[in-house]
Amino acid sequence: MAATGFSADPLVPRMRPFGTTIFSEMSALAVSTGAVNLGQGFPDTDGPPEMLAAAAEALRSGQNQYPPGIGIPVLRAAVAAAQRRFWGLDYDPDSEVLVTAGATEAIAAAMLALCDAGDEVVCFEPYYDSYAATVALAGAVRRPVTLRPTADGRYGFDPDELRAAFGPRTRLVLLNSPHNPTGKVFTADELTLIAQLCHEHDTYAVTDEVYEHLVFTDASTPHVPLATLPGMWERTLRISSAGKTFSCTGWKIGWASGPAALISAVLRVKQYLTYVNGAPLQPAVAVALGLDDRYFAELRAGLQDARDRLSGGLRSAGLRVLPSEGTYFVTADISATAAEEDGVEFCRSLPHRCGVVAVPSQVFYDDRDAGRRLVRFAFCKRPEVLDEAVRRLATLEAI
Ligand code: PMP
Ligand code: GLN
Repeated sequence: MAATGFSADPLVPRMRPFGTTIFSEMSALAVSTGAVNLGQGFPDTDGPPEMLAAAAEALRSGQNQYPPGIGIPVLRAAVAAAQRRFWGLDYDPDSEVLVTAGATEAIAAAMLALCDAGDEVVCFEPYYDSYAATVALAGAVRRPVTLRPTADGRYGFDPDELRAAFGPRTRLVLLNSPHNPTGKVFTADELTLIAQLCHEHDTYAVTDEVYEHLVFTDASTPHVPLATLPGMWERTLRISSAGKTFSCTGWKIGWASGPAALISAVLRVKQYLTYVNGAPLQPAVAVALGLDDRYFAELRAGLQDARDRLSGGLRSAGLRVLPSEGTYFVTADISATAAEEDGVEFCRSLPHRCGVVAVPSQVFYDDRDAGRRLVRFAFCKRPEVLDEAVRRLATLEAI
C-alpha cells in the first residue's frame, strides 16, 4: 500500500503515555459490576437549593447565549467578594478574576499560557491527573517532589528535594492544597519554603484550591492560600471551582484569580479552548458564593462525619488508614491485608470481591513505588451509602 503519511497511532507522542483517566475506568467498573463507587470524587446529593433555583430561573429567563469571555459580572463580583470574605484576598472583579470551564480548564489554560516548550513545572506527587497531561500538552517538563507519610501518618516532603526541584528552567510551581488524593493541608512552614523558592528563582505559582472550604476541625493546620504570603499575590494564579464547594461537579464552573497580567494571559488561551461556558449556571454559582457561613460549616461537618464513618469501616476491614485533614478523600495502605501486587490490581479486583470501587493512588505518581500500596477512597457520599460500603468491605478479609 502506498504510504499515506499517517502513522498507525494518530496521537502525538507527547500524549501517548496518557490513557483513559483512572476516574473514567473505575466509574465504568462500578457501573458494570454494580459496586458502590468510592472511586471518582463526586457527591451523591445536590447542592444548595438556592443555587439550584437560581440556575432554573436563569434557564427560563433567557440567559442561554454566550456570556462574556471573562465571565458574567455578577459571578466575578461574587468570586472577588468571597475571596475577601474567606481569605482577606483582594482582586479586582473586572481585571483580576476569570471564569473557566471548571478548575480543569483553568489549569490547562494556565499551563498553555505560561509554559513554553522545555520550561519546568515543580509539583508535588501524588498529583491530580490533569497536571501531568496539561504540562505535557504545553511541551513543558514536570519536576515532581514526593509527598511521603511521616511517622504520624501525615504527609510531608523533604525540603532538600523541593530545593533541588527548582532550577534555571523552572517557570512555575503548581500547588494543590488541600491536597487530592492525600487529604493533606500544607502547613505555614511548608508554604513559606515554597514562597521563598518562588522568590529566589523568580517563578510563578499556580495554586489549585478547589477544596479550600473542605478542611476539617481536627486538621493540624488551617488552609492558607499561598497568595496571602508576603510578596506572593503578585506572582500567584489562584484557581478554584464551584464543583466541590457546592456539590455540582457536573456544572464545570471554575475560576482563576490573580494579577491582571496573569489573568489576561490565561484568558488569551481560554478563549480558544472553550471561548465561554455555563451561561445559566454562572449566576447560580454567584448566589451560592454569597450563602452564609452556616452553609460552609455544615458542608464541612457532614464531610467530616462521612470521613470518620468510612475511615472506621476501612480500619475494621483491616486496612491502615492515613489521616485525612480535608478534601473528599482518605487513603488506605493495603500492605497488611492485600494479597495483590499493587493498588491497581487491588482496585481492579475489589468490586468483584466485595462490591466496592476505589482508586489506586499509584497512578498519581511518577515514582510508582512510592504509591504502590496506597488506595484512595472517596467519602463524599450519603451516610447510608457509606454504611453499605463498610458492610461490604467487612467481608473482604473472609475472602
Ligand atoms: N483539581 C483537583 C485537585 C481536583 O480534585 C479536581 C476534581 N474536581 C479538579 C481540579 C477539577 O475541578 P473541576 O471539576 O472544577 O474541573
Ligand atoms: N476530582 C475528582 C477526583 O479526583 C474527579 C475528577 C475527574 O473525574 N476528572 O476523583
